[in-house]
Amino acid sequence: MAHPDYLWPPSPVPSLPVRGTEARYPVNRIFCVGRNYHAHAVEMGVPVDKASARPFYFTKSASTLVQSGATVPYPCGTDNYHHEMELVVAIGAPGFRVSESEAASLIHGYAAGLDMTRRDLQMAAREQGRPWDLGKDFEQSAICAEIVPVGDLGVLSWGAISLAVNGQTRQSADLSQLIWSIPELLADLSKFYHLQPGDLIYTGTPDGVGAVRPGDRITGHIERIGEISLDIGQPE
Ligand code: MN
Repeated sequence: MAHPDYLWPPSPVPSLPVRGTEARYPVNRIFCVGRNYHAHAVEMGVPVDKASARPFYFTKSASTLVQSGATVPYPCGTDNYHHEMELVVAIGAPGFRVSESEAASLIHGYAAGLDMTRRDLQMAAREQGRPWDLGKDFEQSAICAEIVPVGDLGVLSWGAISLAVNGQTRQSADLSQLIWSIPELLADLSKFYHLQPGDLIYTGTPDGVGAVRPGDRITGHIERIGEISLDIGQPE
C-alpha cells in the first residue's frame, strides 16, 4: 500500500529499550492506578477500604513518555512538582475480561517508572470534582526505564521499591504492600478496556511523595527490576 500523504510528518512512536534485545517496546497507552498503597492513600487524605472500594485509573498520553536518564525542565503551571515512584507493568498480549489467573499471560515485562505530578493542579481539580489531566497528563510527565522481560519473574508480588532525591531517601516500601495486586489490576482494567501490546500500567506509588526543584536529581530502584533516574532542569 502506498504511503498516505500527511500534511506534516506524524509524531514518532514512543518507545522504550528492552533488556536483552535491540528491539524497542512501542508504547500504545499509559494507564495509571490511583491510591494503591495504604500509606500513600492516607497521606493524600483519602484512605482506602478495599472491602468497599474499587481501583481507579487515570491516563497519560503516550506522547508524555520520557526515557530514564533524561533531564526535563521544571514544568510550567506549577509550584508543587512531585515525584511518584512506581512499578510499571508492560503488556505484551491482548486481553479483554481476563481472569486473575489469565493475567500473567498478558505481561511482557516490568520497569521502574515515575508518575511525575503537578500536585497543586491535581489537588485543585480533585477539590472541584474536575478531571486530573492538568495535574497528571502533561508533557514529559511519564518517566520509564528499560523494560525487563518477565522471564522467570512471573507475577511480581514482592520486592523493595524506593526513591531518593539528591541521594536522600524519600520513598521506601515493598510491592507486597500494593492494595490491588497485579492480577487484580489486570482483571479489573480489562473489564473496561481491550488491553493491547504496548500498554503500560503504572501501578501506584508508595507514601513519601514530595516536591522537587530545579537542579534536583531523582533516583529510584525496584528490587530485581532495576534503576531509574531523572534530572530536573530549569523552568522554561
Ligand atoms: Mn501515581
